[in-house]
Amino acid sequence: MRTKIVATIGPASNNKAMLKKLITAGVRIFRLNFSHGDASLFVDIIRFIRELEAELQIPVTIMQDLSGPKIRLGNLSVASIEIAKNDMLLLGPSDAATSELPYLPFDHPEILESLVRGDRMVLADGGLQFTVNERRNDGLVLLQASNNGIVTSRKGLALPGKATKIAALTAKDKKDLADGLILGVDAVAISYVQTPDDVREAKNIIMAAGKNIPVVVKLERQGAVDRLDEILRETDVVMVARGDLGIECPMPELPTLQKRIIRVCNAACKPVIVATQMLLSMVNNPMPTRAETTDVANAVLDGADCVMLSEETAMGNYPVETVHFMRQIALKAEELLLEQHHLQEPPEDKGIEEYLAYSACLLAKKTNAKAIVSHSMSGASARLVSARRPPQIIYGLTPEAEVVKHLNFSWGVQPVFVSDIKESSHVVRVEHFIDQEPQFKTDDTVIITAGQPKPSDQRRGTNLVKIYRK
Ligand code: PEP
Repeated sequence: MRTKIVATIGPASNNKAMLKKLITAGVRIFRLNFSHGDASLFVDIIRFIRELEAELQIPVTIMQDLSGPKIRLGNLSVASIEIAKNDMLLLGPSDAATSELPYLPFDHPEILESLVRGDRMVLADGGLQFTVNERRNDGLVLLQASNNGIVTSRKGLALPGKATKIAALTAKDKKDLADGLILGVDAVAISYVQTPDDVREAKNIIMAAGKNIPVVVKLERQGAVDRLDEILRETDVVMVARGDLGIECPMPELPTLQKRIIRVCNAACKPVIVATQMLLSMVNNPMPTRAETTDVANAVLDGADCVMLSEETAMGNYPVETVHFMRQIALKAEELLLEQHHLQEPPEDKGIEEYLAYSACLLAKKTNAKAIVSHSMSGASARLVSARRPPQIIYGLTPEAEVVKHLNFSWGVQPVFVSDIKESSHVVRVEHFIDQEPQFKTDDTVIITAGQPKPSDQRRGTNLVKIYRK
């Protein structure tokens, strides 16, 4: 299968036997959700996955998902407040509570100060909606309810489309990231990203720890969508985090937004994950709905590299069945994708590497090659080949263990760790791989791409494409 399945681990899947079933069913990336705890929660899980990788000989990527600055109400002075449409309420700091109107405590002064008449505020993942009526001279904010509902303490709060001054990495995130790096996570996803600086901050922490793992930007704020081009220059992978994005942006826009984001990521050769509620009804049912089935297929047809499961594998009753369905749906969608396939030339403004990747795909097509094998230190060439979506499987060979895990995010790429680095020629390494790989039979044609710098040349990069016959 070319599309990669990401599965979130939770109580339904945190034991070794279940993790093995999930990998066997097709999961290649596991997501550890740090919104539900700290690194101590994941020590055993990471060990199980490493043992299973060795046992099954399948590279599995562990993606840490940082909780980010989810903003919440404070503690109400009562158990709950029942709200009717058009009711007026006050929002303000916990210590300024008044009995004048129903009072919602909110201890983020910088956000309170930024609210203006007409701003929308959403609680409980969209279940309760309010409009800002006025920011009063006493600093409290007068809200009007747009629908009926019940508010309880510590509800998550969103201000759709409004930029806030809160950085994506909280103190908890920084601690979790440092701990995750020590435990050996392979990728880190950052939540509520708003600016390219948020990505740079995570990268600096990773670099300072002597690591080179990819950063996944969760696109869930309108501000991040608006600055996607700049963010793409910094990040390695993007996640269309439809849960929070569906609160930030008008819901009817979500399907087209998903398509636009995927198109931009594909053009930038950055892997993109489509996430949230893909097969949600399978939390309780052994079969998905027709709409969910179509949603997974459409994500693949839109050009997603990865499709992600959340509650389905974290707390559902049918985690293995869900992965099985996702795999079957994705395989069928890939068939259609390849039936309609046209190899597209990279745009004029692209560089040598893009043209080399394109020519490898063109040669693979013209010679009816069995596969494309790319040797790369950074994995960049395999990603460029993947971005052209060739029908052939792409083997991404690399002697860098971190790059193997990064390549798991790319559509159609099977990462391969090159352990024997005594052979200095990258092309010869690839030829050895092809000669030994039972997938390839005598006389099979395989296209090789590799970088072979002169010994005196510090520059790296792919500079060679070759037709190889086994
Ligand atoms: C999302 O919002 O879709 C998402 C994946 O993020 P989280 O589940 O961490 O809120």
